[in-house]
Amino acid sequence: MVKPTDAGTVYDVCTATARPSAVRTALQGLKETVVKAAAAYEVAAAQQAQHTLNHLKHQPDGESAAKAAKAAKGSINEELKKTYVNRMVGGAGRTVYDKLRGSCYGLCALCGHGAADTLDHQLPKDSFPLLSVVPVNLVPACFRCNHQKKERAGADARG
Ligand SMILES: [Zn+2]
Repeated sequence: MVKPTDAGTVYDVCTATARPSAVRTALQGLKETVVKAAAAYEVAAAQQAQHTLNHLKHQPDGESAAKAAKAAKGSINEELKKTYVNRMVGGAGRTVYDKLRGSCYGLCALCGHGAADTLDHQLPKDSFPLLSVVPVNLVPACFRCNHQKKERAGADARG
């Protein structure tokens, strides 16, 4: 039974089906980094201090990530994001996804009344790929709130 809130376990479930095996190995090699990032996120979120997490932005980098990227024949950050889209939402991690989505009585955690149609990344996976499938970073959201947040993020990026 997968505990839907344990970052390490969820990461294992979501990366287990990654193909080819070089990508899977590269992703699994990052488990400790992801678990650490999840712990840092949890501490910061409890203090409303997500801005202190800038050191996690666009991570991983450095030697181990370069190795992982080479093994993955591309960008390990893209593989982390794909781990959410292909391996959590549309893959082995779907049961975790569904549990998290239902975790607020089936309601959107942002507005409190819309149906939870999706999960929202509190810190967007484009900027924080390490948090792509970290449960504490994922909150149930209705399409409307999720969409509005994305539009705002887009406007910020442009402005
Ligand atoms: Zn909402």
